[in-house]
Amino acid sequence: MSIVHYAPSIALLGLALMGPATSLAQFDPAKVWVEPTPVAARFPDPQVRYTTPGFREGRTDFASHAEVLSFLSELERQSPHVRVESLGRSQQGRDLVAAVLSEQGRFEASRPTVMIIGNQHGNEPAGGEAVLVLAQQFSSGPSRELLKRVNLVLVPRGNPDGAERFARFTANGIDINRDHLHLRTPEARALAAATLRYRPQAVLDLHEFTVGARWVDKFNAVVKYDGLLQPATVGNLDPDIAASAQKDYVDNIQDAFTRAGLQGYKFHTTPANNVSDHTVWMGGFNPIPVVTSAGCVRL
Ligand SMILES: [Zn+2]
Repeated sequence: MSIVHYAPSIALLGLALMGPATSLAQFDPAKVWVEPTPVAARFPDPQVRYTTPGFREGRTDFASHAEVLSFLSELERQSPHVRVESLGRSQQGRDLVAAVLSEQGRFEASRPTVMIIGNQHGNEPAGGEAVLVLAQQFSSGPSRELLKRVNLVLVPRGNPDGAERFARFTANGIDINRDHLHLRTPEARALAAATLRYRPQAVLDLHEFTVGARWVDKFNAVVKYDGLLQPATVGNLDPDIAASAQKDYVDNIQDAFTRAGLQGYKFHTTPANNVSDHTVWMGGFNPIPVVTSAGCVRL
């Protein structure tokens, strides 16, 4: 595994796909766009089975905060390589936790560290569930061997309050994904403190993307890809790091998509609030909002 030194705020953006069905709080399955049968036939469910709370057989709801904590506690109980740590408290008092995975529970700073964060946007549960899957896979079995070379800091829910309400923002209405310079939220401060403490060489931040909805409204089409990727693009990024992020990470992940029979693509989106605006732009990577000339905030 090729590791380069990243500034703490740099992330690769990996986007997961389908979350499990039906509701918590604000999630309304009636609003989910359902593809016609011939389209659905082109996107069969992947032939994988997971046992994390949201993916369990017969499950009809997303994982609750209590289930996430319980799942990680059980991993910690079963594996000497897992330590669950509280990074801080959310605005509503929920524990913002990380599963720190290291060989025999000994975090060696001499080994490179990878930090993976899910669910910063509370209505994007797939990333959080993916982080739980990774915690499980790397706590035992063949994948565990990687811990002899790499430390993992896994944060399934960067925004526990939003996740519990299926809401994008934190409890005070701030987008934590745009708060990593301002640090106005305890959630962003907790992640910043953990980043400074563990000094990860690579940070991956997992989100979801719109498949139908605005794409159907504007283009009468749905997106075909399985995942979108974006390396850090901040203006003051060292060119060598930018090149490495593309070559060592994004290119390899794209290759992995291909080997798995999946389609990866560069992260892009289109404005959500104006059907007549057919602009398609690169996804945002700014730690603070960017107000465009049209007055809308790029997401
Ligand atoms: Zn997001």
